[in-house]
Amino acid sequence: MKKLDFKKHLYKIVVTVLIIFFIGGVGMGAANILAIEGVRELYTPDEPLTPLPETNEEITSYADMIITKALNEKPLTQSKEKYSIDTDSIENSLDNNRLNCAAVMAADEIENIIESGYEEKTAGYGESSASFLPAGLMLSSGDIESIDFKRMYYKCSMCADSIDYEDFDEKCPKCGNLNSLELRYSDNYEITLHIKPDSASFKNSSFPKTEKLESVFAQNASSTPYYTFKYLEKDIKTADIYIKVNRLTDKIETLRFETVAQNTLNLYFDNEYSELNDASVKYIAKDKLEYTFTWPGLKLNSNEKTIELGSTEVLKATLTCDDPVKYDVVWSSSDENTVTVDEEGYLKTHKVFGDSVITAKFVFNGKEYSDTCLIHVGVPAEGVDLDKGRIKLNTGDSYTLTAEFDPSDTTNTKCFWFTENEKIAEIDQSGKITAKGKGKTTVYVITDDGNYYSSCKVEVNK
Ligand SMILES: [Zn+2]
Repeated sequence: MKKLDFKKHLYKIVVTVLIIFFIGGVGMGAANILAIEGVRELYTPDEPLTPLPETNEEITSYADMIITKALNEKPLTQSKEKYSIDTDSIENSLDNNRLNCAAVMAADEIENIIESGYEEKTAGYGESSASFLPAGLMLSSGDIESIDFKRMYYKCSMCADSIDYEDFDEKCPKCGNLNSLELRYSDNYEITLHIKPDSASFKNSSFPKTEKLESVFAQNASSTPYYTFKYLEKDIKTADIYIKVNRLTDKIETLRFETVAQNTLNLYFDNEYSELNDASVKYIAKDKLEYTFTWPGLKLNSNEKTIELGSTEVLKATLTCDDPVKYDVVWSSSDENTVTVDEEGYLKTHKVFGDSVITAKFVFNGKEYSDTCLIHVGVPAEGVDLDKGRIKLNTGDSYTLTAEFDPSDTTNTKCFWFTENEKIAEIDQSGKITAKGKGKTTVYVITDDGNYYSSCKVEVNK
């Protein structure tokens, strides 16, 4: 066992490392390297904050509860409304081609006029959104036609791909793996409630109201000399509510009301279009009202890390709030004998091996937000030895060397292998020597940190 003389071996180390990277990159491919990491990850499902809502009744009251939570805890809340006309669906009561063409050409303009009548609203962090966010869905379970509830997915342990639960068909669509597919809970629930548009309480629900649309039309129609707007009929075909919520925190991320309706505009034409007289134009349109929520918080770039004694690492905290640079992050370590952390998130190990929890926190609008990272301080190698110092082989024979680390509980037992002369003996990255031709050479093992090495003399006979 020797302490490495860097100058003497630098050239070899550089060449070896380059070869390893080259072989690693070409032979394995980045996707496979990721897959190996994916296999190591063990799945422990976290408990939801609220028991899984299952019946229609439980789901609607869960939805009301998470909306109330957003109203009370006041995350950044934004709303916007979108109106889109399906131009292929436009038809008119007179079967008049000119009128149809005019309506198709006016569709964009109508969308713009309607959307400009919809106001985008924002309530900043800590501000009340009660003036534009409904207090709840205002629906009863009887209003629900059906519910789509996305809460699971499959994780492929071969290619680390995520597969939608609904799309799953016996094997991984990406790599064809049949065996190691793990059913997991997503952090988010995605719930789509399909509402019966003819149900009694639908009219009183939190869906955008027809009157708003009608008043936008009426206002604009009064300014055109060609027609007078009489009234709008809205025959709602589908009404859906989409909710995306983090099941671990009950923090809602998206709330969307979406209706698809056949609209009938009843118009009275004047002046150069007076021959059209009374006419109606029908079209299908989608009306979408969406609320998005951004919750304040702090997130670390890692929640678990292993570091070797003597090495340095840095943790990064990302703040979600009005002005992240304005706030100070306070760092602390649960065991300062093992690892300490400075005000920038730099970790420093000490003489003691073991685990320590690093906490980063900041205070925003009077509330504290935090995240933690579990640090394992590992035992570094202090030397490496081989099970054989010299070996005799015949061409074609092979032998696998074993690297023995000092101390025996060294955490990082990764090492690199190389040979002085591969025409005599080749060595792979598991330490397997293959005798290639007559002669004498030496094979080496180097520890991952490059600090220690050991060698074995190889003599190949005919
Ligand atoms: Zn796969």
